[in-house]
Amino acid sequence: MSGVTPDTVRRAAELALALLSPASASDKTFEAGDTCIRLQGPDIPATVPMDLATPDDVATSVDFQAQYTLTIDAPRRVLELTWSAGEALRILCFSRGDWEQELAILSDVPAISPPGDAITGTSWMRMQGTRDALLNRVLTDNDLSEVPLSNMRTPETHALTQRPRELAPERDGPVSSEASQKSAADHVQLIRAKATALGVTKTGIIDLRPEFIQIGKQLDHKWVIGLVNAEPYANVLGGAAAVEWGAHDAYRQCAESATSLARYIREELGYSALAHHNGGCEVQALPALYHAGIGELGRHGSLINPDIGAFWRPGFVTTNLPLEGGAPLEFGVQDYCLKCRLCETACPGDAISPAADFIVTGGIKRWLIDNEKCFPYSRLKEEYCHICVDVCPYIHKENGDAQAKRIFKEYLGLRKAAGAGAAKSGVAAASANQ
Ligand code: SF4
Ligand code: SF4
Repeated sequence: MSGVTPDTVRRAAELALALLSPASASDKTFEAGDTCIRLQGPDIPATVPMDLATPDDVATSVDFQAQYTLTIDAPRRVLELTWSAGEALRILCFSRGDWEQELAILSDVPAISPPGDAITGTSWMRMQGTRDALLNRVLTDNDLSEVPLSNMRTPETHALTQRPRELAPERDGPVSSEASQKSAADHVQLIRAKATALGVTKTGIIDLRPEFIQIGKQLDHKWVIGLVNAEPYANVLGGAAAVEWGAHDAYRQCAESATSLARYIREELGYSALAHHNGGCEVQALPALYHAGIGELGRHGSLINPDIGAFWRPGFVTTNLPLEGGAPLEFGVQDYCLKCRLCETACPGDAISPAADFIVTGGIKRWLIDNEKCFPYSRLKEEYCHICVDVCPYIHKENGDAQAKRIFKEYLGLRKAAGAGAAKSGVAAASANQ
Protein backbone atom coordinates (compact mmCIF):
# COMPACT_ATOMS: atom_id res chain seq x y z
CA MET A 1 0.00 0.00 0.00
CA SER A 2 1.43 3.35 -0.97
CA GLY A 3 0.03 6.84 -0.85
CA VAL A 4 -0.86 6.96 2.85
CA THR A 5 0.34 10.40 3.78
CA PRO A 6 -0.40 12.90 6.54
CA ASP A 7 -2.86 14.38 4.06
CA THR A 8 -4.59 11.01 3.77
CA VAL A 9 -4.95 10.79 7.50
CA ARG A 10 -6.16 14.35 7.77
CA ARG A 11 -8.80 13.70 5.14
CA ALA A 12 -9.82 10.50 6.90
CA ALA A 13 -10.25 12.49 10.08
CA GLU A 14 -12.30 15.07 8.23
CA LEU A 15 -14.45 12.30 6.78
CA ALA A 16 -15.06 10.91 10.23
CA LEU A 17 -15.80 14.35 11.59
CA ALA A 18 -18.22 15.03 8.76
CA LEU A 19 -20.06 11.89 9.76
CA LEU A 20 -20.01 12.70 13.42
CA SER A 21 -20.02 16.41 13.97
CA PRO A 22 -23.43 17.88 14.69
CA ALA A 23 -22.82 21.04 16.64
CA SER A 24 -24.16 19.59 19.87
CA ALA A 25 -22.24 16.34 19.68
CA SER A 26 -20.16 15.16 22.60
CA ASP A 27 -19.25 11.47 22.31
CA LYS A 28 -20.13 9.78 19.01
CA THR A 29 -19.56 6.34 17.61
CA PHE A 30 -20.01 5.10 14.06
CA GLU A 31 -19.90 1.34 13.49
CA ALA A 32 -19.92 -0.65 10.24
CA GLY A 33 -18.92 -4.28 10.39
CA ASP A 34 -15.61 -4.59 12.16
CA THR A 35 -14.85 -0.90 11.81
CA CYS A 36 -15.65 1.49 14.59
CA ILE A 37 -14.96 5.22 14.40
CA ARG A 38 -15.27 6.87 17.77
CA LEU A 39 -15.07 10.59 18.37
CA GLN A 40 -14.86 11.95 21.89
CA GLY A 41 -14.56 15.47 23.18
CA PRO A 42 -16.37 18.24 25.02
CA ASP A 43 -16.99 20.44 21.99
CA ILE A 44 -16.29 18.69 18.73
CA PRO A 45 -15.04 21.05 16.01
CA ALA A 46 -16.51 20.97 12.53
CA THR A 47 -13.07 20.69 10.95
CA VAL A 48 -9.72 19.35 11.96
CA PRO A 49 -6.84 21.81 12.48
CA MET A 50 -4.76 22.15 9.35
CA ASP A 51 -1.51 21.41 11.13
CA LEU A 52 -0.83 17.79 11.91
CA ALA A 53 1.79 16.41 14.30
CA THR A 54 2.91 13.03 13.05
CA PRO A 55 4.65 10.54 15.35
CA ASP A 56 7.93 11.95 14.07
CA ASP A 57 7.00 15.44 15.19
CA VAL A 58 5.30 14.89 18.52
CA ALA A 59 7.12 16.61 21.34
CA THR A 60 8.72 14.47 24.02
CA SER A 61 6.99 16.42 26.78
CA VAL A 62 4.23 14.59 28.58
CA ASP A 63 2.22 17.64 29.57
CA PHE A 64 -0.08 17.53 26.55
CA GLN A 65 -3.68 17.16 27.68
CA ALA A 66 -5.89 16.09 24.81
CA GLN A 67 -9.47 17.30 24.83
CA TYR A 68 -10.51 15.47 21.68
CA THR A 69 -9.73 12.01 20.39
CA LEU A 70 -10.70 10.26 17.18
CA THR A 71 -10.10 6.52 17.17
CA ILE A 72 -10.63 3.98 14.43
CA ASP A 73 -10.83 0.32 15.46
CA ALA A 74 -10.90 -2.16 12.60
CA PRO A 75 -11.24 -4.34 14.68
CA ARG A 76 -8.16 -3.46 16.78
CA ARG A 77 -7.02 0.10 17.31
CA VAL A 78 -5.50 1.19 13.99
CA LEU A 79 -5.61 4.95 14.18
CA GLU A 80 -5.85 7.39 17.03
CA LEU A 81 -5.77 11.14 16.56
CA THR A 82 -5.87 13.55 19.44
CA TRP A 83 -5.83 17.28 19.73
CA SER A 84 -6.61 20.16 21.99
CA ALA A 85 -7.79 23.68 21.34
CA GLY A 86 -4.91 25.66 19.88
CA GLU A 87 -2.71 22.57 19.54
CA ALA A 88 -1.64 20.61 16.48
CA LEU A 89 -3.53 17.45 15.67
CA ARG A 90 -1.44 14.50 16.87
CA ILE A 91 -1.37 10.97 15.60
CA LEU A 92 -0.89 8.77 18.64
CA CYS A 93 -1.36 5.38 17.09
CA PHE A 94 -1.21 4.13 13.53
CA SER A 95 -1.26 0.48 12.58
CA ARG A 96 -1.24 -0.93 9.10
CA GLY A 97 -3.85 -3.04 7.35
CA ASP A 98 -6.34 -3.33 4.52
CA TRP A 99 -8.34 -0.46 5.97
CA GLU A 100 -5.61 1.89 4.68
CA GLN A 101 -6.61 1.18 1.12
CA GLU A 102 -10.17 2.18 1.92
CA LEU A 103 -8.93 5.40 3.48
CA ALA A 104 -6.65 6.12 0.53
CA ILE A 105 -9.53 5.59 -1.90
CA LEU A 106 -11.77 7.83 0.16
CA SER A 107 -9.11 10.50 0.36
CA ASP A 108 -8.20 10.19 -3.32
CA VAL A 109 -4.57 10.99 -2.59
CA PRO A 110 -2.15 9.99 -5.37
CA ALA A 111 0.93 7.94 -4.57
CA ILE A 112 4.07 9.92 -3.77
CA SER A 113 6.58 10.23 -6.60
CA PRO A 114 10.13 10.26 -5.29
CA PRO A 115 12.35 13.02 -6.65
CA GLY A 116 15.29 11.74 -8.72
CA ASP A 117 16.47 8.25 -7.82
CA ALA A 118 15.70 8.59 -4.11
CA ILE A 119 12.86 6.53 -2.68
CA THR A 120 10.44 8.36 -0.40
CA GLY A 121 9.08 6.37 2.52
CA THR A 122 5.37 5.68 3.06
CA SER A 123 5.53 3.67 6.27
CA TRP A 124 4.52 5.00 9.66
CA MET A 125 7.06 3.95 12.27
CA ARG A 126 6.82 3.95 16.03
CA MET A 127 9.30 6.28 17.68
CA GLN A 128 11.72 5.17 20.39
CA GLY A 129 10.99 5.75 24.08
CA THR A 130 8.87 8.75 25.00
CA ARG A 131 9.10 9.98 21.41
CA ASP A 132 6.41 7.32 20.85
CA ALA A 133 3.27 9.45 21.03
CA LEU A 134 1.00 6.65 22.25
CA LEU A 135 3.41 5.79 25.06
CA ASN A 136 3.55 9.50 25.82
CA ARG A 137 -0.22 9.57 26.31
CA VAL A 138 -0.29 6.36 28.35
CA LEU A 139 2.31 7.92 30.66
CA THR A 140 0.21 11.06 30.98
CA ASP A 141 -2.92 9.04 31.69
CA ASN A 142 -1.04 7.33 34.52
CA ASP A 143 0.41 10.56 35.96
CA LEU A 144 3.94 9.52 35.05
CA SER A 145 6.63 11.71 33.52
CA GLU A 146 9.06 8.94 32.63
CA VAL A 147 9.17 5.21 31.93
CA PRO A 148 9.69 3.43 35.29
CA LEU A 149 11.65 0.61 33.66
CA SER A 150 14.37 3.03 32.51
CA ASN A 151 15.31 3.84 36.10
CA MET A 152 15.47 0.21 37.17
CA ARG A 153 18.12 -0.85 34.67
CA THR A 154 21.48 -2.00 35.94
CA PRO A 155 24.48 0.15 34.92
CA GLU A 156 25.54 -2.70 32.60
CA THR A 157 22.19 -2.78 30.77
CA HIS A 158 22.07 1.02 30.66
CA ALA A 159 25.52 1.06 29.01
CA LEU A 160 24.24 -1.36 26.35
CA THR A 161 21.34 0.98 25.52
CA GLN A 162 23.82 3.84 25.00
CA ARG A 163 26.14 2.07 22.55
CA PRO A 164 23.91 2.50 19.44
CA ARG A 165 23.69 6.23 20.19
CA GLU A 166 27.47 6.43 20.43
CA LEU A 167 27.68 4.84 16.97
CA ALA A 168 25.18 7.27 15.41
CA PRO A 169 27.89 9.58 13.95
CA GLU A 170 29.39 6.57 12.13
CA ARG A 171 26.23 5.57 10.27
CA ASP A 172 27.58 7.13 7.08
CA GLY A 173 31.02 8.10 5.80
CA PRO A 174 33.29 8.63 2.80
CA VAL A 175 33.04 6.21 -0.14
CA SER A 176 36.11 4.82 -1.92
CA SER A 177 36.49 5.98 -5.53
CA GLU A 178 37.25 2.39 -6.62
CA ALA A 179 33.90 0.64 -7.10
CA SER A 180 33.83 -3.16 -7.12
CA GLN A 181 33.22 -4.62 -10.59
CA LYS A 182 32.11 -8.02 -9.28
CA SER A 183 28.68 -9.42 -10.15
CA ALA A 184 25.63 -8.95 -7.94
CA ALA A 185 25.74 -12.65 -7.03
CA ASP A 186 29.38 -12.30 -5.95
CA HIS A 187 28.48 -9.26 -3.85
CA VAL A 188 25.76 -11.27 -2.11
CA GLN A 189 28.35 -13.89 -1.16
CA LEU A 190 30.77 -11.22 0.05
CA ILE A 191 28.09 -9.53 2.16
CA ARG A 192 26.91 -12.81 3.72
CA ALA A 193 30.48 -13.84 4.53
CA LYS A 194 31.31 -10.44 6.02
CA ALA A 195 28.11 -10.42 8.10
CA THR A 196 28.88 -13.89 9.44
CA ALA A 197 32.41 -12.79 10.31
CA LEU A 198 30.88 -9.85 12.20
CA GLY A 199 28.84 -12.29 14.30
CA VAL A 200 25.48 -11.78 12.58
CA THR A 201 23.12 -14.76 12.99
CA LYS A 202 20.95 -14.31 9.87
CA THR A 203 21.29 -12.07 6.83
CA GLY A 204 18.51 -11.17 4.39
CA ILE A 205 18.58 -8.92 1.30
CA ILE A 206 15.71 -7.30 -0.59
CA ASP A 207 15.23 -4.38 -2.98
CA LEU A 208 14.36 -1.18 -1.12
CA ARG A 209 10.69 -0.15 -1.45
CA PRO A 210 8.69 2.89 -0.21
CA GLU A 211 6.84 0.74 2.33
CA PHE A 212 10.16 -0.23 3.95
CA ILE A 213 11.06 3.42 4.68
CA GLN A 214 9.75 5.81 7.32
CA ILE A 215 7.13 8.10 5.85
CA GLY A 216 8.57 11.30 4.43
CA LYS A 217 12.20 10.13 4.70
CA GLN A 218 14.21 9.63 1.51
CA LEU A 219 16.92 7.06 0.89
CA ASP A 220 18.98 7.20 -2.29
CA HIS A 221 19.68 3.46 -2.17
CA LYS A 222 18.40 0.41 -4.05
CA TRP A 223 18.86 -2.40 -1.52
CA VAL A 224 18.32 -3.11 2.14
CA ILE A 225 20.36 -5.72 4.02
CA GLY A 226 18.73 -7.09 7.18
CA LEU A 227 21.15 -8.21 9.92
CA VAL A 228 19.56 -10.38 12.60
CA ASN A 229 21.29 -11.09 15.90
CA ALA A 230 19.90 -13.89 18.12
CA GLU A 231 19.31 -13.30 21.81
CA PRO A 232 20.38 -15.97 24.31
CA TYR A 233 17.19 -17.97 24.95
CA ALA A 234 18.54 -19.47 28.19
CA ASN A 235 18.11 -16.00 29.73
CA VAL A 236 14.38 -16.70 30.15
CA LEU A 237 15.39 -18.88 33.11
CA GLY A 238 17.17 -15.90 34.69
CA GLY A 239 14.10 -13.66 34.88
CA ALA A 240 12.96 -10.47 33.21
CA ALA A 241 16.19 -8.52 33.89
CA ALA A 242 18.28 -11.23 32.21
CA VAL A 243 15.98 -11.23 29.16
CA GLU A 244 16.18 -7.45 28.96
CA TRP A 245 19.98 -7.57 29.16
CA GLY A 246 20.01 -10.09 26.28
CA ALA A 247 17.72 -7.89 24.19
CA HIS A 248 19.87 -4.79 24.62
CA ASP A 249 23.06 -6.73 24.02
CA ALA A 250 21.55 -7.98 20.74
CA TYR A 251 20.64 -4.39 19.83
CA ARG A 252 24.23 -3.38 20.62
CA GLN A 253 25.45 -6.16 18.33
CA CYS A 254 23.07 -4.95 15.62
CA ALA A 255 24.50 -1.44 15.85
CA GLU A 256 28.09 -2.68 15.80
CA SER A 257 27.57 -5.07 12.87
CA ALA A 258 25.49 -2.63 10.78
CA THR A 259 28.09 0.12 11.32
CA SER A 260 30.96 -2.20 10.34
CA LEU A 261 29.18 -3.65 7.30
CA ALA A 262 28.23 -0.20 5.98
CA ARG A 263 31.83 0.94 6.40
CA TYR A 264 33.05 -2.19 4.58
CA ILE A 265 30.74 -1.50 1.63
CA ARG A 266 31.78 2.14 1.42
CA GLU A 267 35.51 1.76 1.94
CA GLU A 268 36.30 -1.63 0.38
CA LEU A 269 33.58 -2.10 -2.24
CA GLY A 270 33.21 1.56 -3.21
CA TYR A 271 29.43 2.03 -2.91
CA SER A 272 27.37 4.29 -0.65
CA ALA A 273 25.94 2.54 2.41
CA LEU A 274 24.09 3.74 5.53
CA ALA A 275 23.75 1.83 8.82
CA HIS A 276 20.33 1.70 10.55
CA HIS A 277 19.99 0.73 14.22
CA ASN A 278 18.77 2.12 17.56
CA GLY A 279 21.09 5.09 17.12
CA GLY A 280 19.20 6.12 13.96
CA CYS A 281 16.95 4.16 11.64
CA GLU A 282 14.69 4.94 8.69
CA VAL A 283 13.88 1.31 7.87
CA GLN A 284 10.57 -0.33 8.86
CA ALA A 285 11.87 -3.65 10.13
CA LEU A 286 9.11 -6.22 9.74
CA PRO A 287 8.06 -5.78 6.10
CA ALA A 288 11.67 -5.52 4.94
CA LEU A 289 12.74 -8.62 6.86
CA TYR A 290 9.65 -10.59 5.80
CA HIS A 291 10.29 -9.94 2.11
CA ALA A 292 14.01 -10.63 2.57
CA GLY A 293 13.12 -14.13 3.76
CA ILE A 294 14.01 -13.88 7.44
CA GLY A 295 10.76 -15.38 8.68
CA GLU A 296 7.01 -15.61 8.92
CA LEU A 297 4.79 -13.31 10.97
CA GLY A 298 3.49 -14.82 14.20
CA ARG A 299 0.43 -13.90 16.21
CA HIS A 300 2.60 -12.09 18.78
CA GLY A 301 3.52 -9.59 16.06
CA SER A 302 7.14 -10.71 15.65
CA LEU A 303 8.73 -12.51 12.72
CA ILE A 304 9.51 -16.16 13.40
CA ASN A 305 12.64 -17.68 11.89
CA PRO A 306 12.82 -21.49 11.65
CA ASP A 307 16.25 -21.60 13.35
CA ILE A 308 16.01 -18.94 16.07
CA GLY A 309 12.26 -18.39 16.50
CA ALA A 310 11.40 -14.79 17.32
CA PHE A 311 14.24 -14.43 19.83
CA TRP A 312 16.37 -11.89 17.97
CA ARG A 313 16.82 -8.19 17.14
CA PRO A 314 17.57 -6.55 13.79
CA GLY A 315 19.83 -3.92 12.31
CA PHE A 316 20.03 -2.80 8.67
CA VAL A 317 22.27 -1.41 5.97
CA THR A 318 20.85 0.35 2.93
CA THR A 319 23.16 0.59 -0.07
CA ASN A 320 23.64 1.00 -3.78
CA LEU A 321 25.99 -1.98 -4.00
CA PRO A 322 24.58 -4.21 -6.80
CA LEU A 323 22.91 -7.18 -5.05
CA GLU A 324 20.23 -9.84 -5.54
CA GLY A 325 17.15 -10.05 -3.34
CA GLY A 326 15.65 -12.97 -1.44
CA ALA A 327 12.05 -14.15 -1.20
CA PRO A 328 9.58 -14.63 1.67
CA LEU A 329 10.05 -17.76 3.73
CA GLU A 330 6.91 -19.69 4.65
CA PHE A 331 6.92 -22.81 6.77
CA GLY A 332 3.44 -23.02 8.32
CA VAL A 333 3.66 -20.47 11.15
CA GLN A 334 0.47 -18.63 10.29
CA ASP A 335 -1.57 -21.83 10.17
CA TYR A 336 -0.04 -22.96 13.46
CA CYS A 337 -0.89 -19.63 15.10
CA LEU A 338 -4.56 -20.31 14.34
CA LYS A 339 -4.53 -23.17 16.87
CA CYS A 340 -1.73 -22.18 19.29
CA ARG A 341 -2.78 -19.87 22.11
CA LEU A 342 0.43 -19.60 24.11
CA CYS A 343 1.28 -15.94 23.52
CA GLU A 344 -2.35 -14.86 23.72
CA THR A 345 -3.04 -16.57 27.03
CA ALA A 346 0.35 -15.67 28.58
CA CYS A 347 0.10 -11.95 27.80
CA PRO A 348 -0.60 -10.14 31.09
CA GLY A 349 -2.26 -7.25 29.28
CA ASP A 350 -4.63 -9.26 27.06
CA ALA A 351 -3.05 -7.31 24.21
CA ILE A 352 -2.78 -10.15 21.67
CA SER A 353 -5.66 -10.81 19.30
CA PRO A 354 -7.65 -14.05 19.35
CA ALA A 355 -6.75 -16.45 16.52
CA ALA A 356 -9.74 -15.53 14.36
CA ASP A 357 -9.18 -11.80 14.81
CA PHE A 358 -6.70 -11.00 12.02
CA ILE A 359 -6.46 -8.71 9.03
CA VAL A 360 -4.82 -9.64 5.73
CA THR A 361 -2.24 -7.37 4.12
CA GLY A 362 -0.75 -8.48 0.80
CA GLY A 363 -1.87 -12.04 1.48
CA ILE A 364 -0.25 -12.11 4.94
CA LYS A 365 -2.30 -12.55 8.11
CA ARG A 366 -1.64 -9.86 10.67
CA TRP A 367 -2.80 -10.02 14.25
CA LEU A 368 -2.65 -6.47 15.60
CA ILE A 369 -1.18 -5.99 19.05
CA ASP A 370 -3.20 -3.58 21.18
CA ASN A 371 -0.34 -1.35 22.29
CA GLU A 372 -2.53 0.60 24.66
CA LYS A 373 -3.08 -2.64 26.59
CA CYS A 374 0.54 -3.76 26.18
CA PHE A 375 2.24 -0.58 27.44
CA PRO A 376 1.05 -0.75 31.07
CA TYR A 377 2.85 -4.11 31.33
CA SER A 378 5.75 -3.66 28.95
CA ARG A 379 6.59 -0.04 29.85
CA LEU A 380 4.91 1.06 33.09
CA LYS A 381 6.13 -1.82 35.24
CA GLU A 382 9.57 -1.91 36.78
CA GLU A 383 10.20 -5.20 35.02
CA TYR A 384 10.78 -5.92 31.35
CA CYS A 385 7.99 -7.78 29.51
CA HIS A 386 8.92 -10.05 26.62
CA ILE A 387 6.61 -12.89 27.63
CA CYS A 388 4.76 -13.24 24.31
CA VAL A 389 8.06 -14.12 22.60
CA ASP A 390 9.47 -16.08 25.55
CA VAL A 391 6.58 -18.59 25.42
CA CYS A 392 6.58 -19.07 21.63
CA PRO A 393 7.33 -22.74 20.85
CA TYR A 394 9.13 -21.88 17.60
CA ILE A 395 12.33 -21.50 19.59
CA HIS A 396 12.59 -25.29 19.21
CA LYS A 397 9.62 -26.45 17.14
CA GLU A 398 11.11 -26.20 13.63
CA ASN A 399 14.83 -26.62 14.33
CA GLY A 400 14.49 -29.61 16.66
CA ASP A 401 17.00 -28.07 19.08
CA ALA A 402 16.82 -30.37 22.13
CA GLN A 403 18.47 -27.87 24.48
CA ALA A 404 16.11 -25.07 23.46
CA LYS A 405 13.18 -27.44 23.97
CA ARG A 406 14.43 -28.32 27.47
CA ILE A 407 14.77 -24.62 28.37
CA PHE A 408 11.34 -23.90 26.88
CA LYS A 409 9.67 -26.59 28.98
CA GLU A 410 11.56 -25.57 32.12
CA TYR A 411 10.52 -21.95 31.57
CA LEU A 412 6.84 -22.82 31.14
CA GLY A 413 7.12 -24.98 34.26
CA LEU A 414 8.54 -22.03 36.23
CA ARG A 415 5.70 -19.82 35.00
CA LYS A 416 3.13 -22.39 35.99
CA ALA A 417 4.71 -22.89 39.43
CA ALA A 418 4.64 -19.11 39.92
CA GLY A 419 0.92 -19.09 39.17
CA ALA A 420 1.20 -17.40 35.78
CA GLY A 421 -1.85 -17.98 33.67
CA ALA A 422 -3.84 -19.40 36.58
CA ALA A 423 -6.74 -17.21 35.52
CA LYS A 424 -6.06 -18.09 31.89
CA SER A 425 -6.64 -21.81 31.60
CA GLY A 426 -5.14 -21.95 28.10
CA VAL A 427 -1.53 -21.54 29.27
CA ALA A 428 -1.09 -24.76 31.17
CA ALA A 429 -3.24 -26.79 28.83
CA ALA A 430 -1.54 -25.59 25.69
CA SER A 431 1.99 -25.84 27.10
CA ALA A 432 1.50 -29.52 27.86
CA ASN A 433 1.15 -30.21 24.17
CA GLN A 434 4.10 -28.22 22.75
S1 SF4 B 1 5.20 -7.42 25.65
FE1 SF4 B 1 4.04 -8.33 27.38
S2 SF4 B 1 2.19 -7.06 27.57
FE2 SF4 B 1 3.08 -6.64 25.54
S3 SF4 B 1 2.04 -8.04 24.10
FE3 SF4 B 1 3.93 -9.10 24.79
S4 SF4 B 1 3.29 -10.29 26.61
FE4 SF4 B 1 1.68 -8.79 26.20
S1 SF4 C 1 3.09 -18.45 20.75
FE1 SF4 C 1 1.85 -19.70 19.34
S2 SF4 C 1 0.25 -18.30 18.57
FE2 SF4 C 1 1.87 -17.04 19.46
S3 SF4 C 1 3.20 -16.52 17.73
FE3 SF4 C 1 4.08 -18.36 18.71
S4 SF4 C 1 3.19 -20.09 17.58
FE4 SF4 C 1 1.95 -18.28 17.07
